Amino acid sequence: MIRLVAFDGDNTLWDFEAAMRSALRSTLDELWTVQPGPSTAALTVERMIQIRNRVAAELEGRVADLAVVRYAAFERTLEEVGISDAALAARLNAMFFAVKAQQLQPFEDVVPALDAVSGRFRIALLTNGNTDPAQLGLDHYFDPIVFAATEGVAKPDPGIFRVLLDRTGIPAEDSAYVGDSLSDDIAGARGAGMRSIWVNRSGDPNPTGIVPDAEVRSLAEVPRVLEGWSEER
Ligand SMILES: [Mg+2]
Repeated sequence: MIRLVAFDGDNTLWDFEAAMRSALRSTLDELWTVQPGPSTAALTVERMIQIRNRVAAELEGRVADLAVVRYAAFERTLEEVGISDAALAARLNAMFFAVKAQQLQPFEDVVPALDAVSGRFRIALLTNGNTDPAQLGLDHYFDPIVFAATEGVAKPDPGIFRVLLDRTGIPAEDSAYVGDSLSDDIAGARGAGMRSIWVNRSGDPNPTGIVPDAEVRSLAEVPRVLEGWSEER
């Protein structure tokens, strides 16, 4: 009997990708303004994303706070274009988070889906990211809200799922996790003994060998999946 449904945040409930790109664009415009020249002119949003992902891979398992990764990525980006300026890195980082917060929007299917499941199931949020759902007016749906950065352990480590389950007192077998990342959300939830729902908004192929218990194109399908599982036992 499913009693708890926990959600991922970034790219599951809100369009992190769009807000992140928009925020990087703003920091790049700022960098071009204050440090014009051929090396900064060659910088693109795409390259900044690659640098950030490289820094994240280097810090994996050692840093659970993605805000720390983001700051390190700005330092690395400046290094790669030959600028040594800690104050500028800090300013670009602050600008990134301000623009991201301003641009971030929940997907259109989020509120209807949360309304549909909130009467029947306990709803939780478990995120590796740093977006406070209160900024989007969604916080009242979730109890508890678990930030990996606060706990010092991040998905896909089963430890962070255990923090979530311990806080609810609901066993893993009565719980489901909904997320867009096969490696973090689906593998993580399965490793912790929870059921998993893969949110595959763009219909991507899955070559990973990580098999979700259910796959949806929209959160609108989630209530029906949960109802089906609840009728099993
Ligand atoms: Mg996500």
